[in-house]
Amino acid sequence: MDIIFECPNCNQELAVDSSGAGTNIECPACGDTITIPAGPQNPPDSRELVVPNLTASAINASAAAKVEKHLKVPVRNTPAEPLIAKAKPPLGARVVGDKQVRIKTIRRASCMESGHDNFDEVVSKFLLEVGEPHLMSVHTVGYTYFDVATQKMLTDYGVLVVYRG
Ligand SMILES: [Zn+2]
Repeated sequence: MDIIFECPNCNQELAVDSSGAGTNIECPACGDTITIPAGPQNPPDSRELVVPNLTASAINASAAAKVEKHLKVPVRNTPAEPLIAKAKPPLGARVVGDKQVRIKTIRRASCMESGHDNFDEVVSKFLLEVGEPHLMSVHTVGYTYFDVATQKMLTDYGVLVVYRG
């Protein structure tokens, strides 16, 4: 069975018989002396081992990892500290005052005026009134209703706006 691994220096993929595990060889691509790993490895795994700790933490976007990193920073006193400290305020700044979270549903059918579709104008006007800093999210909604005029079930759409106001 062959061991497939990557040269830590040039990332050249190498295949060596498993009997050579643990021995040093010269990389045929870059000439660097590398140690053959003990077993078969996936290329992503070997790359992770090579990546320095700082970069590995940056890639991991989970909140828990950030907290852990933040706690370690004062001890290590790395240049990354101010960057991480500054990354938090924008999240808090999203909370605008202590206004309540509200929703507004705008149906396309309710924006029809003498056969004219004003849906886009109505939605744009509402979003403008709310103001971008207060907007939380906008969702599309589809629904079916009974149209009295045509005596048929019709499908229509609209938007649901979540905002603070
Ligand atoms: Zn190499």
